[in-house]
Amino acid sequence: MYDSFGTPHPRTVEPGEYPVWDEALALVNHDLSALLPGRGPLCLVALPAWPEESADDEHASEHVYVALPDGRWHGNDLPSAAGAEPGTALAAVAEAAQDTVLECLWQVWPVCTEHRLGMHPGQEDGQAVWRCAGGNDEREPGHVQAPVGKLEESYRSRRERRKQRKQNKQSKQNQGR
Ligand SMILES: [Zn+2]
Repeated sequence: MYDSFGTPHPRTVEPGEYPVWDEALALVNHDLSALLPGRGPLCLVALPAWPEESADDEHASEHVYVALPDGRWHGNDLPSAAGAEPGTALAAVAEAAQDTVLECLWQVWPVCTEHRLGMHPGQEDGQAVWRCAGGNDEREPGHVQAPVGKLEESYRSRRERRKQRKQNKQSKQNQGR
């Protein structure tokens, strides 16, 4: 695991090793492919516990990161999954994924289509969600765009609503003739 310089090499985490993270990452990957097709899927990589940690605790756990398909990542490791609420785990994975995408691909993701702002993961009623800070105007307050994993559906339903409105308007105009 350590090379001749003592630098640890990340290893690819196999499916099933961290089921909670696997499940969360699948949802996050769904959101990534919806807005940045071809960039994912993101995967999990792990580094062994730092030597200082292992000295204190021989059971010190390894550090797990959310990485690009080529293995690059940026930012902090995922907090220990033990006992984490699914919403907390999902928000943590979404945040780690966002860091990696931003710093390694220079892509702001995901962006609110309405306000053109990068959104941030948060939690609402125990569920992980993407939040937008809203417009400059007080009539456009911050809002929750969608639960993490449901971005594609939320954009699709927005498009469909718009289409519907347009059709209603057209049929009204036709009736007026
Ligand atoms: Zn917005």
